[in-house]
Amino acid sequence: LYLYKTEAQFRAADAENALRERHGVAMDRLDRADVQNMEPSLAPLYHKGVLFRDAYVFSSPRQLAFALAQAVISGGGEIVRGEVSAIEPRGNGICLRTADMQILTDHAVVAAGAHSRKITASIGDRVLLDTERGYHVLFPQAGHLLSRPVCYPEHGFYMVPMADGLRAAGTVELGGLAAPLNPKRTAMIRDGVKMLLPAAGQGSDEWLGFRPSMPDSLPVIGNSPHLPRVTYAFGHG
Ligand SMILES: Cc1cc2nc3c(=O)[nH]c(=O)nc-3n(C[C@H](O)[C@H](O)[C@H](O)COP(=O)(O)OP(=O)(O)OC[C@H]3O[C@@H](n4cnc5c(N)ncnc54)[C@H](O)[C@@H]3O)c2cc1C
Repeated sequence: LYLYKTEAQFRAADAENALRERHGVAMDRLDRADVQNMEPSLAPLYHKGVLFRDAYVFSSPRQLAFALAQAVISGGGEIVRGEVSAIEPRGNGICLRTADMQILTDHAVVAAGAHSRKITASIGDRVLLDTERGYHVLFPQAGHLLSRPVCYPEHGFYMVPMADGLRAAGTVELGGLAAPLNPKRTAMIRDGVKMLLPAAGQGSDEWLGFRPSMPDSLPVIGNSPHLPRVTYAFGHG
């Protein structure tokens, strides 16, 4: 649910919403009373909203990851932990290098998100991958206050009801993979939640994550030109 505080903001989103509609995104335009009925815990700062009818949310990405891992194991796969520093050709196959292992295989998929660039570089492929850093604050007492993900685009973060509370996450920071968390960003999210959802209470866990971003917003999917036994699957806008 996207919310706008003024008619001017709502109108300014016309072009992007029309584009979404042309691509089949189902949406309802809502007035103030509709929003109030749907999400009564929100402070009534909204003027109008747009509901994306087919949007969905995973209440626990952690459980999803465990379920996927379990499916791999049930299908006869094995999970090996390690940080791959390089991939190189070896005979008719390839070798994945970690600090203490060399794994020989005939095919590999690189899906290391924002960290994929180091691996593609070891193969000799130059990819214009960078990171848009995003911040997260959990409000453990507030999960029940919203019934769907809510975002004021002007605030730049989403409030999402999840299994362990309300996740407030977003913002975009161009700062690379090494710089530490900037506490001003999480303070901004905390202040925003306090204003938009006054009953949310205190935030707890904070973290910084790394979106794998490409300049053209398109994912990198396909085989390496230098080493076709390696398939790339990372990156987005
Ligand atoms: C704060 C924040 C909030 C977000 N909220 C949402 C949201 O609500 N909805 C949404 O759709 N998207 C959201 N995103 C974006 C989403 O998280 C990313 O699009 C998604 O995680 C990218 O998935 P991925 O599998 O490509 O990379 P990642 O999730 O980053 O996974 C990469 C994996 O590769 C591993 N890895 C890295 N380097 C190596 C190596 N050298 N060797 C071995 N393994 C390695 C990492 O440990 C990790 O497990 C959010 C992002 C941030 C930062």
